[in-house]
Amino acid sequence: MSPLDTLPVVETFHSLQGEGFHCGKSAFFIRLAGCKVGCTWCDTKYSWPLDHHPRRGIDALAQEAARASKNGAAFTVITGGEPLHHNLSGLTELLAQHGTETHLETSGVDPLSGSLDWITLSPKPHRPPRTELLQCCNELKVIVHDTNDLTFAEEMAGKTNPGTVLLLQPGWQSDKGQRLSIDHVRKHRHWRLGLQTHKWLGLR
Ligand code: SF4
Repeated sequence: MSPLDTLPVVETFHSLQGEGFHCGKSAFFIRLAGCKVGCTWCDTKYSWPLDHHPRRGIDALAQEAARASKNGAAFTVITGGEPLHHNLSGLTELLAQHGTETHLETSGVDPLSGSLDWITLSPKPHRPPRTELLQCCNELKVIVHDTNDLTFAEEMAGKTNPGTVLLLQPGWQSDKGQRLSIDHVRKHRHWRLGLQTHKWLGLR
């Protein structure tokens, strides 16, 4: 099997999408390993080291996604880690062949690869995203801990296309982030509040 036919995988699971525009829908997740973005508040630091996670064949991953689809998953979410550290063309092509809709969650620091039905861009102030990702994402999700994050959120939103869903998501258990996000959304109708419902519910 060629290295291009495999990807490093932390885990796969069928659950509900817990956040963002598609929150609450049945979803199959493929969490890829590897991230060099280094957010201090990251809740998936276990996904960062590539060599801690086995490489799996993209064909087997697509078949697993197809089975989840038959069992109710509305779409497959490729997440991480930072999935775009890898070329996603092969995997997304196979997912499309199996008829599954594919969503991507990315920080946008790498070039886009693959064919996606929905792109959630979560930009980070210390590693701003590439312009191409800002202009093709369907959803912009900015994590809020402090007032600087609101300034950054507006700057990022100004570079997206009209119609992009704009979400402010308070950092997990950040009281200040919650207050700031709620207040900003209340005063600016183009934003909506995003919550990590899976964490509140104890879902994966
Ligand atoms: S980009 Fe995502 S996975 Fe990487 S450090 Fe930041 S929050 Fe964690």
